[in-house]
Parts: sequence; structure tokens; C-alpha cells
Amino acid sequence: MAKLLAARVAWSNADTALQIHGGNGYALEYEISRILCDARILNIFEGAAEIQAHVIARRASLRRL
Ligand SMILES: Cc1cc2nc3c(=O)[nH]c(=O)nc-3n(C[C@H](O)[C@H](O)[C@H](O)COP(=O)(O)OP(=O)(O)OC[C@H]3O[C@@H](n4cnc5c(N)ncnc54)[C@H](O)[C@@H]3O)c2cc1C
Repeated sequence: MAKLLAARVAWSNADTALQIHGGNGYALEYEISRILCDARILNIFEGAAEIQAHVIARRASLRRL
């Protein structure tokens, strides 16, 4: 759950930070473009977001039984 949330927060923060930089933030010369790219992969490796959501939902539904 922590990893899923952290990956979403990282992506959201990186996206907001790039927005603040405006068009320049998209250019490779600006570090924020790399940060956005790095933040994106967090929702894929070490457990893709959809798979983690499946695992969490399965555990949560088992707890209710
Ligand atoms: C830079 C990098 C480093 C890596 N390092 C390692 C490493 O050190 N060790 C290691 O073991 N692996 C490593 N990996 C592999 C990584 O763990 C996998 O990329 C990750 O598990 C996702 O698998 P996949 O790429 O095959 O995507 P897929 O499994 O093909 O998934 C593609 C998309 O489909 C979705 N999806 C798949 N199945 C379902 C489903 N049943 N329901 C809903 N959605 C679904 C996924 O959520 C994802 O969005 C690395 C990958 C990268 C990019």
C-alpha cells in the first residue's frame, strides 16, 4: 500500500513541478524532465500499480470474511 501511494505521490509531484517550469521543464536540459521520467517508472517496476491494487483489494476482501 505504501509503495502504491508513494509511486502515485511521486508522479503527481513530478508532474506539478514540471508544470511550474512551463515549457522549459519538458526540455532535456532541465533536470525536472528526467525526474518526471524517473517518477513514471515507479508505477511499473517492483509491482505495477494495477497488480498492487489487485493484491490490496484481495487482502482487504479476505479480511472482511
Ligand atoms: C528500469 C527497470 C528495471 C527493472 N529491474 C528489475 C529487477 O532488478 N528485478 C526484476 O525482477 N525485475 C526488474 N524489472 C522488471 C519489472 O519488475 C517489470 O517491468 C514489472 O514487474 C512489470 O512487468 P512488465 O514490464 O512485464 O509489464 P506487464 O506485466 O506486461 O504489464 C503491462 C501493464 O499491464 C498491466 N497488467 C498486467 N497484468 C494485469 C492484470 N492482471 N490486471 C490489470 N492490469 C494488468 C500492468 O499493471 C502494466 O500496466 C525492471 C524493469 C525496468 C523497466
